[in-house]
Amino acid sequence: MNYFEELNKDYRFKEGFHTCINCGTCTAVCPAAEFYRYDPRKIVSIVQTRDNDAIEALLKSETIWYCGECMSCVTRCPRKNGPGLVVMALRDLSIRLGFFTESEKGRQIYPLTKALNGNVLNLGYCVHPETFTYRDHPESGPVFEWALAHKKDVYERLGANFGKEGPGALRKIPQEDLDELKAIYDVTGGTERLQLVEHYSKLKAEQMGMTMEEYTEYTFTHCSPGHFNDGQ
Ligand code: SF4
Ligand code: SF4
Repeated sequence: MNYFEELNKDYRFKEGFHTCINCGTCTAVCPAAEFYRYDPRKIVSIVQTRDNDAIEALLKSETIWYCGECMSCVTRCPRKNGPGLVVMALRDLSIRLGFFTESEKGRQIYPLTKALNGNVLNLGYCVHPETFTYRDHPESGPVFEWALAHKKDVYERLGANFGKEGPGALRKIPQEDLDELKAIYDVTGGTERLQLVEHYSKLKAEQMGMTMEEYTEYTFTHCSPGHFNDGQ
């Protein structure tokens, strides 16, 4: 497969990739570059070479998963490139080809898509207190741990309609609306994408000698040294 030609079929790539003069403005404004060992200028530069091996290495790398998709780079590039859009196209291709399981940050796609899309399809919310646990998110702090343990009282005091019929924040989403959401996933390719992520993740879990439960836990919690600028 010619990866550059494949990327060029993606409308995000067409919009975000023009001639790059390697000025580095995108890297200078990029918030991800401040924390991660990440350089959007290099990504655009590699793609620009059209070197198939180099692009394949990029598709299998950690680096394409560091971008926060904030699009600060899009408004600053003097050549009207959008490195963030190029990254989106690279991520899409990496998932389609199953290359995302070759990197630690890419493998995190599995627990994230499972949790967030599961919430959307089952509850109608992207993040929901019923599935957000302190154990999985100790960074949320002890006050939030307490709030989660007393969520019904807390959300009621804050004026939410937590888990009940009718209008209001955190209300129960009717089944017919959840069915509609599922239908949207089906016709837009979302369901197929989730199945693809699951398929390649299962293959990787087998290769790593793990059950899917172990793989989910491991990919969600494990972070090797070397991702961050401070050497962590
Ligand atoms: S700001 Fe634009 S031209 Fe400059 S390095 Fe980034 S992508 Fe290339
Ligand atoms: S979209 Fe990605 S590459 Fe662009 S500035 Fe934001 S984090 Fe950096």
